[in-house]
Amino acid sequence: MRILVTDGMDAAALAQLRQNGHEVIEQFYEPDALGAALRDVDAVVVRSATKLRQPVLDAAAGGRLKLIIRAGVGVDNIDVACAEAHGMTVRNTPRASSNAVAELAMAHLFSCARYISIAGHSMREGKWEKKTYNKGVELSGKTLGVIGYGRIGQTLGRMAQAMGMTVLAYDIYHAEGLECATMRYVELDELLASSDFISLHTPAIDGKPLIDAEAIAKMKDGVIFVNTSRGNNVDEAALLAGLESGRIRAAGLDVYAQEPTKNEALLNHPRVSCTPHIGASTVEAQRRIGMEIVDIIRQFS
Ligand code: NAD
Repeated sequence: MRILVTDGMDAAALAQLRQNGHEVIEQFYEPDALGAALRDVDAVVVRSATKLRQPVLDAAAGGRLKLIIRAGVGVDNIDVACAEAHGMTVRNTPRASSNAVAELAMAHLFSCARYISIAGHSMREGKWEKKTYNKGVELSGKTLGVIGYGRIGQTLGRMAQAMGMTVLAYDIYHAEGLECATMRYVELDELLASSDFISLHTPAIDGKPLIDAEAIAKMKDGVIFVNTSRGNNVDEAALLAGLESGRIRAAGLDVYAQEPTKNEALLNHPRVSCTPHIGASTVEAQRRIGMEIVDIIRQFS
């Protein structure tokens, strides 16, 4: 197969694809040139930078393209219905990055609890603000609310329980065999009212953001909130207002309403710990994603 990789891929997986006899082209295209390029390949592998929306897919239709692989979980950068209408198969790699994202969510929880991000900035400005940052809080013994208890949410939940936290989970689907002394499913309002820490792990939900002013008003005073899911799940203006009022003690963010984000007020807030959508960006996750893609292409071809 002739395979276009637009946003990079693990080197070992690229080597494996070539060893399996495929021709692999690594090249990023701007949207206006992408459609024509896709007409000339059998498969394309994208991460989040490349958007495969209707105009691009229409331009590619009638060519060689039969397989679209999203190296990651969400397929919100791909118009799946349009691709399928053109006879293209869309696949993703849903399991490979769960541990990486859960660890980043945990890192943001710690960063927020102990001022790690802002204290680092302050030290680089030559300051030694030991007293400013002497009111950190501990995770152990506290309650973590996990909204969206799927692959990533459950992985984070297991880590939190191992650290001595109690986990409250809200999900529209309840998996069997997970509830125990330190984990139970609850309704969203109970989770919001009872959690010291809240981490968001649903897919991108259309319509009104799940976390808006109304949801924030139901949270415990001084809650720490982390979002590594999708930016549109949170009303950023309401989040900023919550930080300013003190209702939200601190927020850890990996995803934003617009990416790259231009929301400087949020990024510059001293109690925000932020990363540029790097949840799945570990060596291990990229290797697992790469090998899952090799498998998908092996099955397809
Ligand atoms: P998953 O499908 O395994 O889990 C999502 C869970 O959310 C499911 O259990 C589902 O039932 C639940 N859910 C769906 N709609 C809901 C709603 N309205 N209310 C409550 N629960 C709802 O997905 P996952 O692999 O755990 O991924 C979770 C999120 O993480 C996705 O948004 C994904 O795009 C995001 N993600 C981010 C990064 C990153 O780099 N930051 C990387 C990978 C995945």
